[in-house]
Amino acid sequence: MTIVPASSIARQFWCEMQVDLRRKYGDVRTPEMKRGSEIHESLLLEISEVIPVRVETPADKLHVIVHNIIVGTEQYKRKGITRELPVLFKFDHVFILGFIDEIAKTGRGGIYLTQVVETKTRMTKRHPSPSQVYCDKMQGMIYWYGLSSMISRGISIEEVCSAFEIDPNRISISEEYAMSLGIPSAFLEGTFIMDIKTALKEIAKLPKLSNKIKLKYIYQGTGEEIYREEYEFNHKLFDQKMKWALDYWLGRRDAVPVRKNRWKCKFCSYKNICPAVR
Ligand code: SF4
Repeated sequence: MTIVPASSIARQFWCEMQVDLRRKYGDVRTPEMKRGSEIHESLLLEISEVIPVRVETPADKLHVIVHNIIVGTEQYKRKGITRELPVLFKFDHVFILGFIDEIAKTGRGGIYLTQVVETKTRMTKRHPSPSQVYCDKMQGMIYWYGLSSMISRGISIEEVCSAFEIDPNRISISEEYAMSLGIPSAFLEGTFIMDIKTALKEIAKLPKLSNKIKLKYIYQGTGEEIYREEYEFNHKLFDQKMKWALDYWLGRRDAVPVRKNRWKCKFCSYKNICPAVR
């Protein structure tokens, strides 16, 4: 079983067929998506330093995630905010990996909670459509669930290794990755399991999660906020929607196209190859 990206699950709530075509034929990056990535990167650079690394092996990939959890939780402790925090968790035995746009301390009077913040960018100044908001709210809920699960120690070291198909007794960090960090690979391999343990311990120490998730939309042209909403994590809805979404990843059913909202097809990068519109 591979790891399912949280962002791909969220996109299923826009159009699952699109997710399927992206997997089969590759990503089609629109100018809006490219600009969105640039804005997210600059938001990260506002509060963090980014060190480029060369990732070659599954252990390299996991090491980056573990490192970013340790650094992110440390930053949150000092500043009350961190961005692009990785979360690795399970839902119905499926491993899911996501990167939370932001978590921020919220509250007053000495009682603080951790709030999940999902930031979206838009090419136009118009408010997002209800379909867009629904899909983005699901994404916020996936991150909320993932962080909540990590805070309550919902994943073990063995499971983390198994998600990346790594044998804890034979960890292989590439020389390219070790060189990009300027640390010998043997040292990274020697501290690997301890680092995973530290990451899981530190993330579990975060203040309790607020039930309220913040969703905001930024205009790509000027960076101004054009819409925001706070909503509660809804366990019943989440369970039901996730079961539906994961049935696709578990091969229990084929991908389904949009049904009611056929207007989405007009803006879809895959409309020329989509079997549902031919
Ligand atoms: S063309 Fe329509 S149904 Fe097909 S992938 Fe795109 S949005 Fe989905």
